[in-house]
Parts: sequence; C-alpha cells; structure tokens
Amino acid sequence: MQSLNVKLVSAMLFIVAITVSLMVLLTSLISAYEYRQFVMRGSAAYTQMLTDNLEQYYTAEKSWTGLQQAIGYLSLATTDRLMVANTLGVIVADTQGEAVGRNISQYNVGSGYPLESAGRSVGNLYILSSGPGRGSMGMHGQSGSPMMVSVYDNSELIAKVNASIWQTGIIAAVAASVAGIFLTRQITRPIKALDTGAGKLAGGEFSYRVEVKSRDEIGRLAGSFNSMAESLEKGERTRRQLSADITHELKTPLAVIEATADSILDGVYQPDPEHLRTIKQQAGLLTRLINEMKDLSLAESGQLKLMPEQIDLVELLEKLLAQHRVHADSKGVKLSFNHLEPLQEVVADPGRISQVVTNLLTNAIRHTSAGGRVEVNLAREARQITIAITDTGEGIKSEDLPHVFDRFYRAGTSRSRSEGGTGLGLAIARKLVEAHGGSIRAESTFGQGSSFIFSIPAG
Ligand code: ADP
Repeated sequence: MQSLNVKLVSAMLFIVAITVSLMVLLTSLISAYEYRQFVMRGSAAYTQMLTDNLEQYYTAEKSWTGLQQAIGYLSLATTDRLMVANTLGVIVADTQGEAVGRNISQYNVGSGYPLESAGRSVGNLYILSSGPGRGSMGMHGQSGSPMMVSVYDNSELIAKVNASIWQTGIIAAVAASVAGIFLTRQITRPIKALDTGAGKLAGGEFSYRVEVKSRDEIGRLAGSFNSMAESLEKGERTRRQLSADITHELKTPLAVIEATADSILDGVYQPDPEHLRTIKQQAGLLTRLINEMKDLSLAESGQLKLMPEQIDLVELLEKLLAQHRVHADSKGVKLSFNHLEPLQEVVADPGRISQVVTNLLTNAIRHTSAGGRVEVNLAREARQITIAITDTGEGIKSEDLPHVFDRFYRAGTSRSRSEGGTGLGLAIARKLVEAHGGSIRAESTFGQGSSFIFSIPAG
C-alpha cells in the first residue's frame, strides 16, 4: 500500500518536473528568438554605418583612391574582413590588404552592399564574417539571403544560453523538490500522528492523546480525536467502576445467603423461619438489584420504551399514597397529599411515573422516624407539572447531597442497605424523569429533612 507521503511527494515531483520543463523550454525558445531579433537589428545598423562611411568617403574624394589607406580605421570597428570593389568589380580596398587590385569575382562573395554617391552606383561593399561559431569565413552580402543570420547566428552562444537555462531549471527543480518534500512531511506528520493515535485507541490505549498544534482543519480534527479519546477513556473508567460496583453489590447478599445456608447445614443454625427469612430477604434484594440494573442500563442506553397516555395525576398519587400508608402508619409517620387544582391531567407513562414516586416515597418513609411527616405536593407552573415529596426525616449531609443520584451511592450509614436499599433507586428515578423530558433535584438540611422535587412537561 502506498503511503500518503509517497503519493504527495510523487504528485509534487511530477508537477515540479512538468513546470520546470515547460519553463525551460519556453525560456530557451523565447531567448533564442529575442537574440536573433537583436542581432538582426544590430546587424542592419552596423551595415548601414559602414556603407554611410564609405559613401561619404567617395563623395568627398570623388573616387576610391586612397581608400586602402583609410579603410584601416573602419577595420577598428569590426573583426569582420571588409572589401570594397568599384563598379567594374576591381577590389579597391581590403582590410586584410592582399586582395587589392584583384577582381571580386575571384571570391565567392555574392553581390555585396551597393554603395552610391550623388545618386549613382560607385561600387559594392563585401563583409566577410570572422565571428565565432563558424570555422570558415562566412559571407555578408545582399544576395545570400540568410547572410546576416549566417554571420551573426551564434549557435554556440545560443547553446550556452540554453545550457544555462537548463542548469538553472535543474537547480530550481531540485530546490523545489527539497522544499516540496519538507512541506509534504509537515503536512503528513499530523496525519501520521492521528493514524498512530487511532491505532492506539483501537488497541484499547484510551489514555493516548495526539499532539497537533496547528489551528487548521487537521488541528481541529486532532482536537475532536482527543475529545473522543477522552470520552472513550471516561466511558471505560465508568464501565470498570460499574462492573466493580455490581460485583460488590451482588457479593454482599450472596455472602449472607451462603453463610446462613452453611450454618444451617453445619447445624450451627436451625432451619427456623428467622434464618430462612434472612435467605429469602437477601434473595429478594438480589432480584431487585438485577431488575433495577436492567432498568438503569436500558435507560442509560436510551432504549427504555415509554408508554405515555393521558393520566389523572391526582388519582394516581392518591392510589400510591394509599399503598404506602400502611407502611407509614406502622412507622408512626404521617403521610399527606396537597394539590391546589382539582384535576391534573398529563401525558406520561403511568407505570414509570409510579416507579419514580414509589421510590421517593419509600426513601422518605425509610429515612423519617416516628412522629415525622411525609408530604406530597402537586403543583402546575405554566406548562410544567411539579411533584415534591418532602419529609421531616434525618436529612442528607451537604457533602452527600450532590451524589444521591449517582448509582450505588448510599449516603452516610449502611442503614439503606440493611433496609433493602440498592443504591440505584434515585439513579433510575432521574433517568425516568429525564426520559419524560423533565428534571429532578434534591434539597436537604441534615437533621431536619429532605425534599425531592421533579417536574415533567404538562403534555
Ligand atoms: P437506596 O435504594 O439505597 O435508597 P437511592 O438511590 O434511592 O438508594 O438513594 C440513595 C441514597 O440517598 C440513600 O442511600 C440515602 O442515603 C439517600 N436518601 C435518599 N432519599 C433520602 C431521604 N428522603 N432522606 C435521607 N436520605 C435519603
């Protein structure tokens, strides 16, 4: 499998190669063209200068006599060999001297540049190139059509320019590639870090965090990755804590059952109703624990199915109070119900609302001693129905109060457990109220009593 790094580097190298090649090719074509244009412009001016000088000489002297002596200074302006022939073709001046007096036809030099004085032809100028780039002497004249180019077409120079362009191109390509590889690494490094992080998470290493400092999309992705890892870590911690709690909660009643049964079998206890009742109570606690854990896990995973219907809350609460009155009376606790409006109709799941109220009532009665009171208040505020269950019982210490809705939390003493409490009641109550779109809270003053208040939408 090709890594992202390799793909990016290949793409980048490909782009660099294409760009640099095109650039070099176009630059060398354009520079060759521009060079030729320049040479041609320069060459025309040069030829004009020579013919002008020679024509002025002829006009002043009225003949070519003495030109051979005078041509020396013209030869200073050029490295080319210059020859001038009169109208008969006899060479009257030669910058190399040797051809004077000979006929120009002996030299294969074309027709040359015409020289005129007072409107008539007086001879021709011939320019023989001595420039670099040609082994033999090239010819300058009007008849040989590519002659200007041939003299000044410095292909060696153009080749040198081209070579420099290619060298520059290659250096640019290498520099761009090195910079590109460096940048590619910069881009892929955080992606690699994320890849490593994902591997660690998949392997169960939830404490792993990626270190990406950029503020771009990858930086934000890394931030989300770290938040995800954090919630996974939290979830894992909760799961471990939960299984430890569950194990602990199951162990206690099982240990009591086992010890009681062992004692009966060993003959230490009689199989009398008292010991059999202990076993039955603990077995009952186990059943309740298991049922409540099922409810809680369904509620926590959002799978709890509510069956809402139009219910008369007054009727429902009166029925529940009646069920608890026997227990309250037996403890010497006074149970009362207050509601202002005669009929409180609401759309809710009657079974689940009963479960919440039963739990709050059981707790209130359990934690209130003889002579105390438990009140249920029903009120309607705007579109909310609020039920408050207030007792004058033992109350909850302020350090325990924030935790009473946590699962398996039992405040203060182990009384709740000894009285059959699972520590799950309030956790389930909160989930059930939330499933109805409502909320629940507790208020308490230690030693004076507690209030559990929950609200649900009126429907
Ligand atoms: P349990 O099944 O143990 O009662 P809950 O979740 O219903 O569990 O309650 C959690 C804890 O909150 C209880 O163990 C108890 O200490 C405390 N608590 C709940 N209701 C009251 C109350 N009305 N008065 C005093 N303490 C209470």
